[in-house]
Amino acid sequence: MIILGTASDIKLLTKDGRRLDGRTNEELRPIKIETGVLNRADGSAYIEWGGNKILVAVYGPREAYPKHTQNINKAIVKARYNMAAFSVDERKRPGPDRRSIEISKVISEALDQAIMVEQFPRTQIDVFIEVLQADAGTRIAGLTAATVAVASAGIPMKDFVVGCTAGKVEGKVVLDLSKEEDNFGQADLPMAVLSKSGKVVLLQMDGDLSVEEFDQATEMILTATKRINEIQREALSTRFVAEIEEGGE
Ligand code: UDP
Repeated sequence: MIILGTASDIKLLTKDGRRLDGRTNEELRPIKIETGVLNRADGSAYIEWGGNKILVAVYGPREAYPKHTQNINKAIVKARYNMAAFSVDERKRPGPDRRSIEISKVISEALDQAIMVEQFPRTQIDVFIEVLQADAGTRIAGLTAATVAVASAGIPMKDFVVGCTAGKVEGKVVLDLSKEEDNFGQADLPMAVLSKSGKVVLLQMDGDLSVEEFDQATEMILTATKRINEIQREALSTRFVAEIEEGGE
């Protein structure tokens, strides 16, 4: 879709207060997670979240290389977020850029908080996040799927990492920004937490929110993460129930 005009004259809410895709302000886009999708990876997951389509492959824990990067106390979590050239409207130049390096770093740090890294000194855990189709919120969708992929690799974890975004459009706080809302809205707040403890492991913000709006946005995100965590758990249990059933045949 080609959108003409400046950010200020783009209407993102209809007269009855609905969003352009028909959602209410607290409604998530549809989310689907599948695991065990790649045979050669130790763990894998595929997520569709709105128009986002993202594959995650996990390898490890394996000996960290080069050796001087090894940590004698824990495993190093190395996430690599990559957008395919065809994943966005305007062809994305292949290879890492500032944005993907930043996203890889914040995702690595978030996963490091959930994985029992102390159990695997001198090793690395590689998490490849490949965005096949991008539709806003890819860092959070990638991280949410990466958690499932790590768990499916049998890597011990203290907790799930689960996230969502919220933001502001036309002065209203809304959950799970669409691409138009992300591009032309007034704020974008991606956040991820550990599901049991609620500890915040990723928090970034673009734009402006008042303290009240920030509280409202984080409250909405926390409520949504409960539902998203159920989807993560269902993906894992579906896979492992299927495996047990196949093994029992
Ligand atoms: N985007 C794009 N080209 C780029 C980077 C991003 O078209 O090179 C789009 C893509 O749809 C992405 C959205 O802009 O999902 C928002 O990007 P942002 O940097 O806010 O990260 P995200 O919301 O995906 O975590």
